[in-house]
Amino acid sequence: MFEIECPYCGLREMTEFTCHGEAHIARPKNSLKLSDEEWGDYVFFRSNPKGLHRERWMHQHGCRKWFNVLRHTVSDEILAVYKITDKLPTAKQKS
Ligand SMILES: [Zn+2]
Repeated sequence: MFEIECPYCGLREMTEFTCHGEAHIARPKNSLKLSDEEWGDYVFFRSNPKGLHRERWMHQHGCRKWFNVLRHTVSDEILAVYKITDKLPTAKQKS
């Protein structure tokens, strides 16, 4: 269990939020020319790193707004929380 700083509501317990996987997945611009394999890669395959991961979260039981989180998948340490429209924050990984 950990807490997340919602960029709109402030610090709340993680049970108020839902994680919707990897952030920054861009829809292919040349979608009409993609092969089935390329579509499958876009739709189904996501990175699953042991370490820093950028994720989309939603404050399900609060403001219901979307935002991004930079989280370490082993320690659950959250290094950054930022709005969808914000620039990517930089964070140094702790050893
Ligand atoms: Zn919120």
